[in-house]
Amino acid sequence: MRITVDRGLCYGSAECAYRAPAVFAFEDGYGVVRAGGEECADDPLVREAVEKCPSQAIRITERPG
Ligand code: SF4
Repeated sequence: MRITVDRGLCYGSAECAYRAPAVFAFEDGYGVVRAGGEECADDPLVREAVEKCPSQAIRITERPG
């Protein structure tokens, strides 16, 4: 699994970092995925952060291959 935040969509609400602080951080006005955070893609808090992101900037995709 791969978690990414699209900076072109993110408008810096910081909700992802608030909901799932183990995985997301808030840096320079954007939500970012912490190093190693991708391992937590199945975490319900991460799923919730994806669903509740107001700009739908967070994506979880299957790793190719
Ligand atoms: S919740 Fe969405 S809009 Fe808000 S900081 Fe995170 S990625 Fe950006």
